[in-house]
Amino acid sequence: MKRRIVIFLTALFIVLSAGAKKGPKYVFYFIGDGMGTNQVIGTQYYLADVEGFYGIKNLCFTEFPYTGLSLTYSASSYITDSSAAGTALATGQKTDNGVLGMLPDMTTPTESIAEMAHKKGVRVAIGTTVNIDHATPASFYGHTSNRNNYNEIGKQLSQSGFEFFGGGDFQTPSVGNSNNYTQAEEAGYTISRGYDDYKSKAKSADKILLLDKSPDIKNLSYAIDRKEGDLSLADITEAAIDFMMKEPKKGFFIMMEGGRIDQACHDNDPGTLIQEMLDFDNAVKVAYDFYLKHKKETLIIITADHETGALALTNGEYKINMKVLQHQKMSKGAFISHLDNKVRETGEILTWDEFEEELKQQFGFWDKVELTNQQTDRLRNTYVETFGMGPGELRGCNYLIFSRLANEAVSIMTDAAHIHFGAGCHSASYVPIFAIGVGAENFTGQIDNSEIPMIIKKLANY
Ligand SMILES: [Zn+2]
Repeated sequence: MKRRIVIFLTALFIVLSAGAKKGPKYVFYFIGDGMGTNQVIGTQYYLADVEGFYGIKNLCFTEFPYTGLSLTYSASSYITDSSAAGTALATGQKTDNGVLGMLPDMTTPTESIAEMAHKKGVRVAIGTTVNIDHATPASFYGHTSNRNNYNEIGKQLSQSGFEFFGGGDFQTPSVGNSNNYTQAEEAGYTISRGYDDYKSKAKSADKILLLDKSPDIKNLSYAIDRKEGDLSLADITEAAIDFMMKEPKKGFFIMMEGGRIDQACHDNDPGTLIQEMLDFDNAVKVAYDFYLKHKKETLIIITADHETGALALTNGEYKINMKVLQHQKMSKGAFISHLDNKVRETGEILTWDEFEEELKQQFGFWDKVELTNQQTDRLRNTYVETFGMGPGELRGCNYLIFSRLANEAVSIMTDAAHIHFGAGCHSASYVPIFAIGVGAENFTGQIDNSEIPMIIKKLANY
């Protein structure tokens, strides 16, 4: 009899504790745009190499206990674009490249987990390092047959009613009578510009936009180019948590995108990529700190929408030399503007000596990064070919001229690291998943990108 009671009580305990098992109250969903497995491991090699040891140094998220691989192909192509991938990651539905938050029929909207969460009273924050109406963030609130309908997407942003948006500006805030700022204000949003402005306005705001300081800034600065006071993804993550925790009882869903990992890879710009990856990890650290204080209620998932650049961690030999990338001081785009400004100031073309000095300063060539004679010849030939045409012809098309020089510099930097970009576009490879916290064990193995939000939905009961 006694034994029966014990069995009964044990069974009752199991049933009750299973019923009481709660899903995550606080969900972080990080998407590294273009972040393939090589972007991640390459950054780990880089960190070890810079510190002078052989092996890897972990990022915050590579130490998460659960890892998986996500399939990224879209309904229309093995190589997805960001809107089809974003739609899969946000809504659980695969769609055609170019379509956002809709089925391939281009008329049936698909509901995102952010929208589902919000309907259930959960507070929602969406953040990115690119324009806030760009494909990845927009997949969580936008529904349109063409991802480039930015003004329409900007309008849908306000209609979402989500409590927080952070990132660069609206891409095309004003088209005809449709003004995205007015729409946001009419929908009850406070617009703040820069982190300090956010801090002074957040307290009295019901819903808020945290944009970068100037409306001209559509993307946040690359981490490698960042100046004091420029907004970062870590700032946005911090602000998002702060804003969500105004009503902690409601729980939150926060999506943060490292949108410029993709752009650095499209640009085949290796030093910029590494710094962008480290910056993404810094934003993850902010979430991880939160997790440490709320372990029993928090889930963090890190993944990517696709790989960009077909990054290979070899250029045909059995060695890589990642540490040279620490000597790159500017992104390719910033180097173009830098050269352009220099020529504008003086009105003179750059001499080879001056150009050589720039390459030393901004890329560490010759001084810190050893170049082969062949690599030096490549730079010199590109210089002669571009400036050989004479100063008179420089004025009309400076950008093109300098982009040719900057392309060559960045390409030689890539060679010096003994790595290789196989493409300027996305690729069809696997992307990684890393997870920690409540329910993280569900994100292992090979998972289709469209399954990820459905698992979150189930766990968090959206
Ligand atoms: Zn993308």
